[in-house]
Amino acid sequence: MNLKDYVALVEDFPKEGIKFRDITPLMNNGEAFRAATDKIVKYAEEKKIDLVVGPEARGFIFGCPVSYALGVGFIPVRKPGKLPREVVEYDYDLEYGRNVLCIHKDSIKPGQRVLIVDDLLATGGTVEATVKLIEELGGKVAGLAFLIELKELEGRKKLDGYDVFTLMDY
Ligand code: 5GP
Repeated sequence: MNLKDYVALVEDFPKEGIKFRDITPLMNNGEAFRAATDKIVKYAEEKKIDLVVGPEARGFIFGCPVSYALGVGFIPVRKPGKLPREVVEYDYDLEYGRNVLCIHKDSIKPGQRVLIVDDLLATGGTVEATVKLIEELGGKVAGLAFLIELKELEGRKKLDGYDVFTLMDY
């Protein structure tokens, strides 16, 4: 199965000049969704993960089935005002704008091994912020998994020294 058959290219979304890779067709197909999830689970199995962290919103969609398969907890990273208890925050630049991300302060214990899962690595701003939040809580980022990497945006440069796994490149 070629997972790229289930990724749609949408020109000029959400703004003119952006080529958006839409992964909802992959989610819509049970076989493709399972195949993508299984590959990430296989990658994670060797890493002795304690927790999966996913940034909103597509990181939830792909992170949760991975955490379920591994039998470990899932921690959401969210925009301000969404998490009900005490948070730590991090500000960053986005491919299209600025953003702040938050994590519950008590969600990770020092030394816990964390896998970050998101749908797509673009400039790396979102995942860099997620790494900072995890490390501020004392967690160790044992791996990062994405369905898609947009190579020309060079997000990997922000992840030097980390173990990055991707299923598809554009
Ligand atoms: P970055 O912070 O690496 O520039 O952007 C990655 C984040 O923005 C991810 O959380 C991802 O969901 C979203 N994103 C940016 N561009 C795209 C895209 O072309 N397709 C999808 N599905 N998500 C994108």
